[in-house]
Amino acid sequence: MRKSFMIIATLLLCCLPGEGRKMPKAKTSNAGTEYLDASFSVYDSMQKKIHSLAELGYMEYESSALLASHLEENGFKVERGVAGIPTAFIATFGSGSPVIGILAEYDALPGMSQDTVAFKKAVVEGGNGHGCGHNLLGTGSVAGAVAISKWLSEGHAGTVKLFGCPAEEGGGGKAYMSREGCFDGVDVVLDWHPDICNLVNTESGLANVQMRFTFHGTSSHASSAPEKGRSALDAVEAFNFMMNMMREHVPDGTRIHYAITDGGKAPNVVPDRAQVLYYFRNGSREVVADLKERALKAAEGAAMGTGTEMEYEVVSGNFERLYIESLASVLQTNLEAVGGVVYDEREMQFAKEILAASGITDLSVLEKPAMVLPLGSDYPTLRGVSSDVGNVTWVAPTASFRGAVFVPAGLGHCWQFTSSGGTTIGTKGIMNVAKVLLYTAYDLYGSPETVAEIKKEFNDRRGDGFEFVPLIGDRNPPLDYRK
Ligand SMILES: [Zn+2]
Repeated sequence: MRKSFMIIATLLLCCLPGEGRKMPKAKTSNAGTEYLDASFSVYDSMQKKIHSLAELGYMEYESSALLASHLEENGFKVERGVAGIPTAFIATFGSGSPVIGILAEYDALPGMSQDTVAFKKAVVEGGNGHGCGHNLLGTGSVAGAVAISKWLSEGHAGTVKLFGCPAEEGGGGKAYMSREGCFDGVDVVLDWHPDICNLVNTESGLANVQMRFTFHGTSSHASSAPEKGRSALDAVEAFNFMMNMMREHVPDGTRIHYAITDGGKAPNVVPDRAQVLYYFRNGSREVVADLKERALKAAEGAAMGTGTEMEYEVVSGNFERLYIESLASVLQTNLEAVGGVVYDEREMQFAKEILAASGITDLSVLEKPAMVLPLGSDYPTLRGVSSDVGNVTWVAPTASFRGAVFVPAGLGHCWQFTSSGGTTIGTKGIMNVAKVLLYTAYDLYGSPETVAEIKKEFNDRRGDGFEFVPLIGDRNPPLDYRK
């Protein structure tokens, strides 16, 4: 009697999930999971190294090299400099189908320099920093891809491709990679982004176009010879006036914002050069494409009326995201299976100090990283954002999730995120993320029916005869946009 009880108990234990939900043991214990369980220190030092490098978009030379070399050392075949971008790469492992793609980013933000301490302190005053956690994004995705390769090495069929995607922050690397066909032949793309909690993204976000308008006039003395001058700043102001009038006559949900990046140097000199940078956003790329044309006409009108010349540049352009429910639900199952992030005593103390330094007294926010939100949870911050991932979602079936890697003490691009993301709190988060990617790949490799269903939903949602017409047009990647 006792013996048969023990046999049943052993059988039951074999089926127990990693944390939470029931799943086959092979999913929670295989060469991939063993690799991740043994590799915390590898990825801890990798993410911290990229955190300290803090390289800006299209200049992530060392960061991309670090990730690409690590993949190469683990048997991936790496193609560097894809889509005409020196810091973009594709690393491939395995053979046959399905082909699973994973997106990685590694660019930093200007002005976000921050030490990994519990108070605001720049490492370099005014320097760059990982306020969006792309040090973690790149490293977590690479950890997931390598773990998947370990599992494939056990004799399973399938291919994993890690896409090294530069300059997400305004440079739109993935728009060029999508246009150049980098994602051709990929069956499913998995994407994630650093956050304060764990959830699968069900929001489409906003399509956007970033345009730079430069006006050229004639310089002269503003007091002794104003009649000889033609002010480029006048043109910018006339243009902005027209755009502000236009706000009343655009579809709901449109966002128009601008910054005058050059308005002349001195009031007593009629400026012969002025420049303004615009963002146009809407939930539909068609609306954004139309706004682009209307803005262009307004800029031409402003130039004509002020006797100046206008030139423009489409700096970046991103589609809204195409949501694939059948893929999102696979991600959700695995995110729930892996669970959230639990701080140890030292990390909890550090988190409390960050909260105190941020004036946050409600300590219940510290429960967020350990939670996994249900599919379809309301998460308003994702509604108003744009990302170059949007382009990828229209060329290959893609789903995205958010992983808790930051202390919940800010709203993005803040010192609290830069600081906590560079500690073991961030590393714990990405080891979770890597496991979610591994489990999801396991499900997709093991179920051709699921992959077929995902591809069918993708084709249905795109519609017949869909053609990817990039909002960036045929321009070359703006490799110098941060210089
Ligand atoms: Zn980001």
